[in-house]
Amino acid sequence: MTVSQATDYEGVIGLEIHAELQTATKMFCRCPVVDLTATPPNTAICEICTGYPGVLPVINQRAVEYAIMVGLALNCEIRPYSIFARKNYFYPDLPKGYQISQYEYPLAVNGYLMIDLADGRQKRIGIRRAHLEEDTAKNIHLGDGTSLVDYNRSGIPLLEIVTEPDLRSGEEAEAFGRKLRAILQYLEVNSGDMSKGVLRMEPNISVRPVGANELRTRTEIKNLNSIRNMSRGTAAEIERQITVYESGGSVNQETRGWDEHRQKTVLQRVKESADDYRYFPEPDLPVLEVSEEWVDAIAAKMPELPDAKRSRYLAALQLNEYDAGVLVADRAIAEFFETAVAAGGDPKTVANWITGQIFRLMNKDSLEREEIGSISIQPEQLVALIGLVDRNLINNNTAKQVVDIMYAEGGDPADIVEARGLAQESDEAVLQEAIAQALAANPDEVQRWLDGEEKVSKFLMGQVMRILKGKADAQQVQTLLNEALENRRA
Ligand SMILES: [Zn+2]
Repeated sequence: MTVSQATDYEGVIGLEIHAELQTATKMFCRCPVVDLTATPPNTAICEICTGYPGVLPVINQRAVEYAIMVGLALNCEIRPYSIFARKNYFYPDLPKGYQISQYEYPLAVNGYLMIDLADGRQKRIGIRRAHLEEDTAKNIHLGDGTSLVDYNRSGIPLLEIVTEPDLRSGEEAEAFGRKLRAILQYLEVNSGDMSKGVLRMEPNISVRPVGANELRTRTEIKNLNSIRNMSRGTAAEIERQITVYESGGSVNQETRGWDEHRQKTVLQRVKESADDYRYFPEPDLPVLEVSEEWVDAIAAKMPELPDAKRSRYLAALQLNEYDAGVLVADRAIAEFFETAVAAGGDPKTVANWITGQIFRLMNKDSLEREEIGSISIQPEQLVALIGLVDRNLINNNTAKQVVDIMYAEGGDPADIVEARGLAQESDEAVLQEAIAQALAANPDEVQRWLDGEEKVSKFLMGQVMRILKGKADAQQVQTLLNEALENRRA
């Protein structure tokens, strides 16, 4: 086969996602699910999650409910019967010598997720399966040849989600990752914090000539600590494979890592043969039965998800597509927005303030959108600030100053305006006085205006606002200034 230099390639990407289900207790025992970064190692463990012989696991019903919620949100078929199986392998993070997972009979299958592309279109990405399993312990390599194991993670409920290879680029992988993460956050089953490892996304990647149907040898990228790195790693790996094929080489089946500093993927491990996990049904657990009534009851108490929320914002609140999309992309942003609207804020004005000034301030501090709940501006205070502008007590420029102060120091907008003397002057006599002062100080400009040079009025307007220290309604000042100038014609 000859490959012409002009061949256009496309990426073929599937994602394997591991999402910890943040239930109160672990998958098969009563140990608490803890934040690994904030808990001393090996303090949330027992005989079951450390794999002592003779113990019996018990299925955590809440974890099954969480998994069903995610399955429904991903438009999956929830199977009435699913079976836990032992996945046998040996590793220090797996004290039993096997992981309890689901293999031939997963809980949820045949779903899809609509992702939002940059050009406004949506694309359907197939979900092959979502199954329940338990997390392994965490190995900590000290770098001097010593490794430590934290069993606090061992047995935390884990949902593995596998997509069809329907993604074609790093951007599409990113769109999928963001949408899925938002759904997990909306459902309150996972914090979405990839840097803490509670959510892990591993792309498997191959490339092929555009239009071809073949699936070529794929590589996978592991240990990605953010969606951005997942997207960049995917794009770089697609480029690398194209270069390999263009130079006549072949791609090996291997696991690669992401070198953030060099912005390229690096070889971690070559896979010489398929792993043989000798799966067999877990003899210590019953078949997991899920009745239709149970699924219906779970569906009935699910919260409104991003796509439904977006449609409602468009139809009922008359927001534009851009604002609606940005506001629903993070649950925390949507909550902030809805709290402000419930407090009496006009939806469009509130949306403008959030996507404009508040995002500007948060970007300055490199805050993620989901951290909006931690800023010192409360939604009700934003509505109060908008009210001051509506009632003409401050103008828009002053409002921007006030929001900066609210963000930096906290406090109510009305108090800030009063304490700093930012209220605008609306007493007409004071405004007239400022205008008279400005005109008296600039007789040449006044003459030019009288001679027909209208644009001079802009300069005079600036002089008046300077005397008023910007604290006046520009519209009102302009009207009074025009009157004053007209009077000089006489
Ligand atoms: Zn335990």
